[in-house]
Parts: sequence; C-alpha cells; structure tokens
Amino acid sequence: MPLKVLTMLQHRLSPSMGRTLQCPWISISRQSHAHSVSHCQSSIFASNVLRDAARSAWPWQQQRGCKSAASSSDNGNSVSADNRTFFATTPLYYVNAEPHMGSAYTTMAADAIARFQRLLGRRVTLVTGTDEHGEKIAEAAAAKGQQPQEHCDGVVSAFKGLWEELDIRYDSFIRTTEPKHEAVVKSILSRVWETGDIYKAKYEGWYCVGCEAYKDDSEMEGDHACPTHKKRCVEREEENYFFALSKYQNQIQALIEEEGFVQPEARRNEMLGWVRAGLRDFSISRAAVAWGIPIPLDPSQTVYVWFDALLGYMSALLPEGVEAQPKELQARGWPANVHFVGKDILRFHAVYWPGMLMSAGLPIPKKIFAHGFLTKDGMKMGKSLGNVLDPRSLLKAYGADAVRFYFLKEIVFGQDGDFSELRFRDIVNAYLANSIGNLLNRTQGLLKKNCSSMLPVAASSIPADNPLRVLAAEQADRAEAAYQDFRLHDALEAGLAISNRGNLYMEEVAPWTAFKKGSDAEKHAAAAALVAVLEAVRIVALIMSPVTPGLSSRIYAGLGMSPEQFDCLRWSDVQWGGLPEGQSMPKPQPVFARIEADPVTDVSVSAVSMAAQ
Ligand SMILES: [Zn+2]
Repeated sequence: MPLKVLTMLQHRLSPSMGRTLQCPWISISRQSHAHSVSHCQSSIFASNVLRDAARSAWPWQQQRGCKSAASSSDNGNSVSADNRTFFATTPLYYVNAEPHMGSAYTTMAADAIARFQRLLGRRVTLVTGTDEHGEKIAEAAAAKGQQPQEHCDGVVSAFKGLWEELDIRYDSFIRTTEPKHEAVVKSILSRVWETGDIYKAKYEGWYCVGCEAYKDDSEMEGDHACPTHKKRCVEREEENYFFALSKYQNQIQALIEEEGFVQPEARRNEMLGWVRAGLRDFSISRAAVAWGIPIPLDPSQTVYVWFDALLGYMSALLPEGVEAQPKELQARGWPANVHFVGKDILRFHAVYWPGMLMSAGLPIPKKIFAHGFLTKDGMKMGKSLGNVLDPRSLLKAYGADAVRFYFLKEIVFGQDGDFSELRFRDIVNAYLANSIGNLLNRTQGLLKKNCSSMLPVAASSIPADNPLRVLAAEQADRAEAAYQDFRLHDALEAGLAISNRGNLYMEEVAPWTAFKKGSDAEKHAAAAALVAVLEAVRIVALIMSPVTPGLSSRIYAGLGMSPEQFDCLRWSDVQWGGLPEGQSMPKPQPVFARIEADPVTDVSVSAVSMAAQ
C-alpha cells in the first residue's frame, strides 16, 4: 500500500479524529492538517473501492475481516503468477513419543517463514502432521497396553495442543492414518507399479527398528550399533517389494548438483557424496509389520513407513475423494516450495522422495532445507542423560514469544544450536523486555505526560534524514532479504538494530529536558522525537511479527492500532509513516514482562560455570 494512502487510511480509522490536542504549542499545525484530512477522505474511499474490486483477501484474512488484501506488487515488486503461492511443510512427526523440542523447533521456524510469506501477500499453505504407522508405534502402544490407533490419537492431540500453545498457524494437519491418505498411498503405489519400478526380492541385512531402516556396514558403529540410536541393529531376512531407486541415479544426482535444491550448502555436499557413491534400490514394504497400509496387490505386506509418510505432503493438499492426479495437485500449490526437515531425515527427502516422484511422473519439490541438531548446555540431549528439554515446560514458564524468539534468534537456522536456560533468560530480558518493551513503555510515558497520549505530528512528517528513519529503512530491507533466504536470526537482528538505535536516540535527544524547560520550538522537536521512536517501534514489531506474533500484536495495540489493523498488516507497511497525527495511545502497559522467577529446567553446574566465564 502506498505510504500516503496508508497514513491517510489510518487517519480515517483513528478514533481521535475531531478531538482537541492538549499540547498548546502545536495547535496551529493540527488545525491546518484537519482540512487536508477531510479533503482527502473521499479520494481514499474511491481508491479502496477500486482495490476491493481488484483483489480479494486471502482466506485467513477474510476470517479476520480484512477488507482487502493488497499483494506485494504494491511494494513496486510485481509478483509473477508462480510466486503468488508458497507451499511449505514440516516433517510429519513420528508419534512413537510425545512431541519434543526438535519437532517444536522445526515447526516454529516453518511457521515464522510462512507468516512472513503471508505478509508478502502470497497464498500460503503450511502443512504439518503426523506419521503414525510402523513397528516402533506398535511397540510404543503395546508398552502402554493400548491399541496403536488409541496411542496415536493421544499423541496427536499432544502435538496439536503444543502447536496451539506455540502460536503455530498451519493450514493443513495430515495424519497418515486418515482414509484420504491411505487412498493417496495406494494410488501412487499403483502408478509406480505401472512404471515398472517395483519388484520383489529377498533382503538380508542389519535393521535398526529406531530408524526403520536397513544399515550398511559403513552406516553402523562397532558391534553393528546404530550411531543415532546407540543400539545394536538386528539381523533380518525377508522377502520385500523394492523400489528401483538406482534407475534414477543420474536424474537425482543432477538434481542435487543443482544449486539451491538442498540447503544449506554443507548438507548438499554430504548428500552429493552419498549419491555419487551409487544409489541402491530400497525396500518399500515390510512383511513383519502389521501396523501399516497393506500393499494392494499383496496384503501380506504393509507399506514401508517412509514411502507412506512422504506421501502425506500430497494427501495434506487433497480433499477427501480427490485423486492424486498432477492437475489436482498443481491446482493446490504442488510442488512444495520447501520441505523443512532435520538433518537426520534429509536423505529420505533429498534422494528417496524425488525418486518416488520421478517414477510417479509428478513434479519435484523446489527445495529441501535441513536444520541442525539441538544440544542443551553444550551436551547432546538424551533420556539417559536426563537432560531432555520439554517444550511444554518452557512454554508454561515463558510463553510462546520468548521461546520462539530464543530458538530463532540464537540458532542460525541450518546449523546446530544450543539451549541454555541462563542464556535464554539473558537474551529474552535484554531484547524483548528492555530494548523493545522498555523503549516503548518509557516513550509512551513521556507522551502521556506531555501530549496526553496523542501523537502531535504524523510519523510521515519526520524528516527523511532522521537517523531512526534512515536506519529503519535499511534494516527493513535487510530483514526482508533475510526472511526470503530463511536467515531468521538475521531478520531478527535487523529489528533489534532499530530498537537498540531507538534507545540510543532517546539518550541523545533527551526529550524530557526540552519538555521541562525548553522553548515551544524545542518542545515541538521533543514531541516529534517521541513520534519517531514510536514509529520505529511499530516497524520493529512488524519486522519481528513472524517470530513474535503475540508481542507484536501487543505493541500494535499499545500504539493505538486495532486488532484488525494488526491482522491485516502487509510487509509493505514496514515503510516509514504508519503512525498518523492525532493517533491516541491507550494507557501505557508493559508489553513484555521481565523474567525474574527461577529457571524451570535443570541448569547443570557445567552450564552455570560456562555462563559465568
Ligand atoms: Zn537407528
């Protein structure tokens, strides 16, 4: 939306219209502005009518009553048809146990990226869900004396509850036990069968139940132990159906050689090394596993969990009864712009999955992005170590914004990262409570005392060379580029650079001095400085909103914006000039409470000493 229209629009919506400002030293400018506002109103209305006719709001915005959803072409960047949709997925999480921090991490990163894409005006589909078949699930259910389905239902509700607490806004949640998914698996299996890529053969080898996979000698540690599960693999021999992956050797290798298909770069090299060593066919059925989807032509076998689960990305898009045909899928956004995965399951997504799709004659995803592993206080997490991080206890103690902010700011998405509760508390307090929360609060306090909580001038009237205005423009560009490239930490740092500069600016300008003993002109300048800071905080809130949606909405409310205005925001609103003259602010309230209470996880001695260094 053009800056001018936005500012005027907010004027029209501003509840303060017609009220008299309390600052005597700016009453003249206020009056002259009132004329220009009434003059502009009719033309704004006309342009809105045109806009409404030209575009319709996206579904989630319609629910929230957004009148119109501008596309990012308003920004001057026209969006090609191919760019109007954005389809991303988290893995479908395995329900052998309750959701852990690793799953929460992937999901919050995917959610932040999806939220940014929605701000750009794209039609976003974020898919998440659960992978519910396989031996390990049957074992977990049996250990609790439950039927597998009963066990799955319980774990699935834990996942859904966690996503709600974490403020995850997904568009589709697929369970691999849903009938529509089973139909998709059977239909794709038939397509692959017809291509001649499935054959029956005897297989003998070392099998890790934890990985649900056979292991080569090179993939095991001493005494045939799985390096991930630290458990001895079991020797198995069965007659299975195999998928002829090796047939796609050249195509898959070329795909991974393409820059950008597998990210980050280090992971791409790893995959490339593995593929160049020669692809081997893999078995796609299990004779010994009853908890799964039966192979249509041979019900004595069930579909291998990975072949089953990967197809969930497809069934998530399709309504019940709609066939998995290329046309139907493409109409719903297929293929994915990106699959977000942990590095431990990259091979299945970067190699097996493209092979399956090539065989079925379906388009390949555009990108597979693998993130790293999490440690706690510098140590690998594990049940035996007793240091497993429970996302729910963190959320209960600190709330979604703090948890999302820490993991997405402190860990470079794509690399391994560490959680330390001490570090967590330090950075959340330093940035969310102090740099942002405090800045807003004390600026509002001064505005209340000296201007009756009403903006004496519009943010757009702040000179173009104002240091906050200059920096905000630079950092908004930086944040946009960072979000586009999934560099979430960098996008957040852009926002924090503005709030940090805002604090410095307040010290430099010291508006409280001018209010106390300055001339009318100095008071006017001091009031304008408050407007500049508040506008900067508004921009920070928008930049950070994909990661801290709750905090950002509280900041917007604190700036006198309605929930509808917040819900209908677009990325183009990061342009300077959103706060209108005469905007009335509610009573200043802290938007983020400092963390003071005791830590909730085991803060080990080594962590304390590490933090003290
Ligand atoms: Zn394993």
